[in-house]
Amino acid sequence: MSKNQIVILGGGTGGTMTANRLRRRFDADQAEIHVVDRDDRHVYQPGLIFVPFGLASIEEIVRPRRHQFWAGVTFHENEVAEVWIDRNEVLLDDRTVLPYDVLVVASGVRLQPEETDGMTGPGWNERVFTFYDPEGARGLQAALDRFDGGRLVVNLVDMPIKCPIAPLEFAFLADWFLRERGLRARTELLFATPLDGAFTKPVASERLAGLLAEKEIELVTEFNAGEVDGAGGKLGSYDGRELEFDLLVTVPLHGGAAYLERSPGLADALGFVPVDMHTLQTPTKANIFALGDATDLPTSKAGSVTHFEAEVLTENIAHFLAGEELVGTFDGHANCFIETGFHKALLIDFNYVTEPLTGHFPTAFGLPLLRESRLNHLGKLMFQWVYWHALLPGREIPGFGPRMPTAGKRRTPVHA
Ligand SMILES: Cc1cc2nc3c(=O)[nH]c(=O)nc-3n(C[C@H](O)[C@H](O)[C@H](O)COP(=O)(O)OP(=O)(O)OC[C@H]3O[C@@H](n4cnc5c(N)ncnc54)[C@H](O)[C@@H]3O)c2cc1C
Repeated sequence: MSKNQIVILGGGTGGTMTANRLRRRFDADQAEIHVVDRDDRHVYQPGLIFVPFGLASIEEIVRPRRHQFWAGVTFHENEVAEVWIDRNEVLLDDRTVLPYDVLVVASGVRLQPEETDGMTGPGWNERVFTFYDPEGARGLQAALDRFDGGRLVVNLVDMPIKCPIAPLEFAFLADWFLRERGLRARTELLFATPLDGAFTKPVASERLAGLLAEKEIELVTEFNAGEVDGAGGKLGSYDGRELEFDLLVTVPLHGGAAYLERSPGLADALGFVPVDMHTLQTPTKANIFALGDATDLPTSKAGSVTHFEAEVLTENIAHFLAGEELVGTFDGHANCFIETGFHKALLIDFNYVTEPLTGHFPTAFGLPLLRESRLNHLGKLMFQWVYWHALLPGREIPGFGPRMPTAGKRRTPVHA
């Protein structure tokens, strides 16, 4: 095989795993591997949920990006400006042109708070916050420290968002935090969502709605937020409803990276990249693949999904370069711990066709599914170590792979 040039756009979860897996797969004389990212701060994003409550600091969850790559991966600290798909080239912000044989889009999502009327106006980062980026999470920590009771509204503006369970986790942890501080009795806690239930999938939605009710968190459904009045403390929906707040915790609209809009043929109208749901190859060009939050796939935008995709993607890049048929083994597998406070967590595991069910993961003797337990909470805490030391370097974890395990799952309703 002659030496191939592989360019990966984005050095977050998916880009780093893919680069490291490819580096282990190909010798240096077989492939050059380039990763482009705009900064040198790799954020362990699941850790952001703990920052507002003082349970983690930004310093504990951020590491230098360039140190996460195996030797032999070339890191470019640059903004991607444009992709010229007809010429197989990427243009960077310093006018560097990177030619490629294979391109991997791993640029995640872009938070777009400015797309909701008033959100970034008066009150932004004073009484309206998002914990979806490090700066917002840190600001929210200070605001919660000052919070002395009132109305706290948690809202996700619209789907899709990354980690769709994170806003629920925030609500559960806020309930715990306020109880510990003796503020719960004088705080109304609301969870407002555009969905018709607490979550997207029926069995999990019912279980999570039950937990919200147990914790006296009011669930407001089909609430499509259209306007924020930060100064007046009001969140308005398109159907004319209004929620008053003293503190608004929002998950803003998500879209794809801006360079995708300047690269015709790569992304859909929302900026997400269409790919084959099993092979991760784009329909636009056979030598372009995508993974992680950047894709339009009908599974969760989650780090676990990105990890499972990275395994299949690496295989398929090797097949593509060898002129072989691709494997279609990605089944939409997603796996997420859901922190519920009081040192407990739930676990959900699902794929394109099987919704989150009760039972155990990965076998009948594993972690409990859709049931609060301390074991799951410990699993969530341990996961950060696993992320830095096994997942990012591209090491295999036995029993934790792209195909969703079915051995421990029960097909009975939650309340049975
Ligand atoms: C609060 C929160 C909690 C979460 N909790 C969980 C959880 O418990 N479990 C779970 O599985 N997942 C969780 N996630 C989701 C998980 O972090 C993401 O799904 C995962 O990181 C996606 O990986 P990615 O590679 O697609 O994107 P990212 O890891 O976001 O990487 C994208 C990279 O592309 C770079 N980039 C974008 N545009 C450009 C450009 N133009 N030029 C250069 N670089 C660019 C960015 O700088 C970034 O580094 C959580 C996310 C959040 C925000």
